[in-house]
Amino acid sequence: MKKLGFGAMRLPENGRFSKGIDLDLTCEMIDYFIEKGYNYFDTAYPYHSGKSEETLKKCLVERYSREDFILIDKLPTFFLKKEEDMEKYFNIQQERCGVEYFDYYLIHDIAKRNLNAIRKFNPYEYVKKLKKEGKVKHIGFSFHDDAEFLEEMLNEMPEIEVVMLQINYLDWESSAVQSRKCYEICRKYNKEIMVMEPLKGGTLVNVPDKAKDILKTSKPEMSVPSWALRFVAGLKDVSIVFSGMHSIEDVKENIETMDNFEPLDEKEHKILQDVAGIIKGVNIIPCTYCNYCAENCEDNIPISKFFELYNADLRENHFKFSKYLDEYNEYASIAAYASDCTFCGNCVDSCPQQLDIPEYMGDVADYFE
Ligand code: SF4
Ligand code: SF4
Repeated sequence: MKKLGFGAMRLPENGRFSKGIDLDLTCEMIDYFIEKGYNYFDTAYPYHSGKSEETLKKCLVERYSREDFILIDKLPTFFLKKEEDMEKYFNIQQERCGVEYFDYYLIHDIAKRNLNAIRKFNPYEYVKKLKKEGKVKHIGFSFHDDAEFLEEMLNEMPEIEVVMLQINYLDWESSAVQSRKCYEICRKYNKEIMVMEPLKGGTLVNVPDKAKDILKTSKPEMSVPSWALRFVAGLKDVSIVFSGMHSIEDVKENIETMDNFEPLDEKEHKILQDVAGIIKGVNIIPCTYCNYCAENCEDNIPISKFFELYNADLRENHFKFSKYLDEYNEYASIAAYASDCTFCGNCVDSCPQQLDIPEYMGDVADYFE
C-alpha cells in the first residue's frame, strides 16, 4: 500500500517566527520517504509563499533523477487577472521547480468563488494545451465546493483525469465540505481520486482527550493519526493520499501506517463516527491552517496561528490557557491583535473552507484579549 504522498504545504520552518524553510530537515524527510519506496510529491504556487516549489527543487529535483518521483503542481486560478497569466504562472512554476514537465497539473481550487476566473480565462483549455505539448502528463483539478457543483464542473471538463478532494472522517458527512458526496460523484464519473487534508490540517492528530482515550483503548498499538489515514486510504478508487508533512516523525509515522496498512473494519468505522461527534462537539474553528488567507490581510493578522491557538485551548479544556495566551501575545506583539481586525472581509474569498474569518476573529479577540 504505497498510497501515501508527500504534501509540501506545511514544511518545517526555521524557528517560530521565521518564514524560511529548514532545508536540511526537508532533505532528510524526503530522503527517508523515497528510501522507503514512496515517490508522490504535491506542491502549489502559493504554498509557503512560493518557497514550497523552490524547496522541492533543491531537496528533490536537484538530488534525484526525474523518473524517481511524481510531481504534482497547480495552476493558481485565484490569482488570474488576465488570460496570459496562466502561461506566466506555469513558466514561473517550471522555473521554481526546475522541471521540464509536471506529472500532474491541476487547476487549483475549483469552487464557486473562483467561477469568474474559470469562465473568463478557461483554464481547462489551457491545461489541455499543456498536456498536448507534453509539458504535463495528466490534468485535473483540486476541488473545494459542494457535490452538485462538482458534477457541473466534471460535465464542463470531461477530459479531466483526476480530482483532488478534501476527504477525512470529520468532513465525510459535513454539509459544507461534503467529502462523501464528492467522492461518490468522482466514482460515478470514473475519475482518479487524490486526497488532500486527510488529517484536516492536524485537527485529527490533536484530538480532544476524550476522543484520544476512545481510540487508544480500542487499539493501543495504533497512533491517533493512523486512524485518519486508514480511513481515507481504504476508500476504493483513491489513488494517493497527500499528508502535509512537517517533521521527520510525521514522515516515519505515516509510513509506518501505510507499510502495515489494514483497512478499517465495520466496528472501527463506527468508532470513528463517535470520535467525529466528540470533535465536532468541542466547536473548534474548522480551519486547516493552509494559510491562503494570510496574504490578503493588510493588517497582517496571523489568522491561522490565532485559530490554531484558540482551537488548541478549547481542545485541551483550558488546562494550558496561560501558555496559549502568552503565545498569542507574542505573535500579536510582532504582527497584530485579533481585535485589530477591521472586518474588511478581504480574507474571506481566499479560504477554501469558506470560513467567516472576520466573525471567528471577533471570537478570538474576545477569548484572548
Ligand atoms: S477581515 Fe480581518 S482578518 Fe480578514 S483581511 Fe480584514 S482585517 Fe484581516
Ligand atoms: S482561515 Fe481558511 S484560508 Fe485561512 S488558514 Fe484557515 S482554512 Fe486556510
